[in-house]
Amino acid sequence: MTIDNTTKTTVPFSREQLESVLKTRFFYAPAFELYGGVSGLYDYGPPGCAFQANIVDVWRKHFILEEDMLEVDCTMLTPHEVLKTSGHVDKFSDWMSKDPKTGEIFRADHIVEEVLEARLKGDQEARGLVKDANAAVQENADKKKRKKKVKQIEAIKLDDDIVKEYETVLAKIDGYSGEDLGKLMVKYNIGNPVTGDPLEPPRAFNLMFETAIGPSGQMKGYLRPETAQGQFLNFNKLLEFNNNKTPFASASIGKSFRNEISPRAGLLRVREFLMAEIEHFLDPLDKSHPRFHEVNDIVLPFLPREVQESGSTTPIVTTIGEAVSSGMVDNETLGYFIARIYLFLVSIGVDDTKLRFRQHMANEMAHYATDCWDGELLTSYGWIECVGCADRSAFDLTVHSKKTKEKMVVRQKLEKPIEVTKYEIDLTKKLFGPKFRKDAPKVEAFLLNLSQEELEKNAKLLKDNGKITFNVEGVESEVELDEKFVVIEKRTKIEHVREYVPNVIEPSFGIGRIIYAVFEHSFWSRPEDTARSVLSFPPLVAPTKVLLVPLSNNKELVPVTTEVSKILRKEKIPFKVDDSGVSIGKRYSRNDELGTPFGITIDFESAKDKSVTLRERDSTKQVRGSIEEVIKAIKEITYEGSSWEESTKNLTPFTSTQTEETV
Ligand code: AMP
Repeated sequence: MTIDNTTKTTVPFSREQLESVLKTRFFYAPAFELYGGVSGLYDYGPPGCAFQANIVDVWRKHFILEEDMLEVDCTMLTPHEVLKTSGHVDKFSDWMSKDPKTGEIFRADHIVEEVLEARLKGDQEARGLVKDANAAVQENADKKKRKKKVKQIEAIKLDDDIVKEYETVLAKIDGYSGEDLGKLMVKYNIGNPVTGDPLEPPRAFNLMFETAIGPSGQMKGYLRPETAQGQFLNFNKLLEFNNNKTPFASASIGKSFRNEISPRAGLLRVREFLMAEIEHFLDPLDKSHPRFHEVNDIVLPFLPREVQESGSTTPIVTTIGEAVSSGMVDNETLGYFIARIYLFLVSIGVDDTKLRFRQHMANEMAHYATDCWDGELLTSYGWIECVGCADRSAFDLTVHSKKTKEKMVVRQKLEKPIEVTKYEIDLTKKLFGPKFRKDAPKVEAFLLNLSQEELEKNAKLLKDNGKITFNVEGVESEVELDEKFVVIEKRTKIEHVREYVPNVIEPSFGIGRIIYAVFEHSFWSRPEDTARSVLSFPPLVAPTKVLLVPLSNNKELVPVTTEVSKILRKEKIPFKVDDSGVSIGKRYSRNDELGTPFGITIDFESAKDKSVTLRERDSTKQVRGSIEEVIKAIKEITYEGSSWEESTKNLTPFTSTQTEETV
């Protein structure tokens, strides 16, 4: 708001202090704490809930309303078949390594990362200490003692080559397979970080929570690990809802569940979290975006694949326009969303100097994806993926369509008809019922879904052998058909309609991770009294916008307090009245920790002339004006993007007789 970043950074960031504030003010707390808690599960308290609701509200407006997306709210319980088809049953896993002695389980990539980072940190400190000790030796201090010390420290120091190797491994950490990680653990002697004992080779662990749907226990299911599948499965209904027009996007906000191996980073790695996902369906032959020019000049830090592979983490800073035209980002629509993600993140309080877009490396990316960039935010836990943005090609719709035999395609009327030669299959349907009985529909659907390659192959087999055979899922015996049942021919036709499976660009947001990053990016302590901390949330997302503070409990102040409350309620501006007996300074200080951007003080003057004082959280500046003027300024700054300077320029600067420090 009005305070500059230099003031905020004069006191070093302390995660401990932030966590204490978040806990005391009940932004969130470990779930089931009375029972000892369960790692990776958290409950949000009142300010946490309001903050999350405000962020979701901004998300909905920034994406769904702005882009006219189609929102769906799908069930979280998902049958096995769906997630088997999507690939989650077989592939949605992380690598875990067990300590055979203690039984402790570690996430393999995290343990490698943690240990190497700790060694590099030790090395850096050692190098610093060696320098200091050497300097002291030069100054002729206690030479012997110093020399001994230098020797000891030199032992922790790493060779320059090893430092380079570790840095390269860390830059590529997200791209390693389980086998690679196992080799790294052996090569660099990485074991249990406490005991140093070796760990078992990494094994894949599926992250989905399994359950059974219904009392029989027959229908296996899972709690969904993402909201995307519900959107894909509703594609045909959404396309119809959209009058068969493409491109269009669906969106969903809801809980997802992942049985994380060892969640230890607070809200950043949890087992149940709120996701907001978009599936933008578009023509595979045209990935341009009609509004790309609006974001073309936005400058962003990119960490492309090649930079990471070279072992570097220095980003390329360029415009999204340049990133797309140079081919670094695969296409305009992907680029458009990357820029829109950036605009969203900074609007809710992410520090843009702690944000970068990192491209997935080839082996990190799903095999079907064309390109994938993670919006990463820098926190005291390092760079954290908070938003994924992937071009998933036609993978999801294709696999579900193949499995269900339901077409999921866009039909585009062609301006100029085209001549198309392709294989076609005709079924003599009246023979299918008597021969296949209840299985007839399955066999027919199977045949009608054969691909061009399969039709070509079977046309030849039918011609050569007079019959073709198939194994159809759900049909017990082999299906054998001759020319009386099917005709497969290559035909040339004029087509007026082009049929295609759309591709999907998927921006996927973890709301809890973003919330935590905003907590860190907004947190600072007042240099004049470091015990007084502030959460500088943008007013739009702050849980409460105004603290109403009557100067004393005197009855005289009650009517004005009631009047201001009434107006704030009518204007739907979230506020709290603090008429506790404690000093004004203490009351404001409490609310600085809650991130409340404005304070209205009601004093004895207010009772006489209905004027009140407005205080701004970050600068602690105060101005005085009528109730209406002050509320107007609050509304403008909070909801209309106006600045403090602009909206209070006609109000009178005010110096309190009771200073903030009076606590
Ligand atoms: P993914 O589908 O793995 O790309 O995840 C999409 C987004 O969900 C990520 O960018 C994160 O913001 C969020 N996310 C994934 N796993 C977790 C987790 N265990 N805890 C919190 N957020 C998560």
